[in-house]
Amino acid sequence: MLANILSFIFGSIVGSFLNVCIYRLPQSKSVVWPGSHCPKCEKRIPWYDNIPYIGFIMLKGKCRFCKKNISLLYIIVELITALMFIALYNHFGLTYDFCVYTVFACALIVATFIDIYHRIIPYEISVGGMIVGLLLNIIKGFNLNPFSWNYAAGVNSVIGLLLGGGLIYLSGKIFDLVYFKLLKKPPIQGETESMGGGDVLLLAMIGSFLGWPGALLTFFIAPFFGAVVGIINLLVKKDHTIPYGPFLAIGALVSLFWSNKIIRILLP
Ligand SMILES: [Zn+2]
Repeated sequence: MLANILSFIFGSIVGSFLNVCIYRLPQSKSVVWPGSHCPKCEKRIPWYDNIPYIGFIMLKGKCRFCKKNISLLYIIVELITALMFIALYNHFGLTYDFCVYTVFACALIVATFIDIYHRIIPYEISVGGMIVGLLLNIIKGFNLNPFSWNYAAGVNSVIGLLLGGGLIYLSGKIFDLVYFKLLKKPPIQGETESMGGGDVLLLAMIGSFLGWPGALLTFFIAPFFGAVVGIINLLVKKDHTIPYGPFLAIGALVSLFWSNKIIRILLP
């Protein structure tokens, strides 16, 4: 119980930093300096207004200075991050894997919200995440007493990175070839490329954290979520395009938590 409360509090604080990343990364601004500002009136936000949930409730959802509404998104991101920390703690305990996958989950949360609002996935998250995922997997192989190094996790990470990026790249190219060239369909909103480079880099990043089995599972799980939301989107908004990053993120989390169960069902 205490561990869950601590996970919730720590996750909420991290979530409030993820909000800063989600807001600033697309504008190429530093995420550490200067301190938090109201996006509407640019006034500096005092620390006590920045306490997760409590600040928002005390201010009744309005900026202290300009009285404009504070986006509910801030609370949503803090809450999702907090719940993610609880789930990760209960799955991995206080282990090295817990640290690795909290970093991973945070990167996925930031990528998801930036992709939804800006239709981009910043290189800081995709390429930066690839490097971090690879390093954390290499470090995982070190044993200090007696000193030895098992390179299996590092190799798995490299293969996952290449496989993840390669699968999305190839499937996008094959789809474009069949849909636009062979079936001669007109470009969708001026585009003849269905899969963005951001998605290729994102699945490469996912592969670098999860290794090749996780990259493969994510590749096959993501379209199920994508198809459901895509159809709803098409019916409600008559819009053909949806950001794919959030579905890759969902697929990655499903394979992170349940890959063993899924593999056992698929390969009995
Ligand atoms: Zn303001």
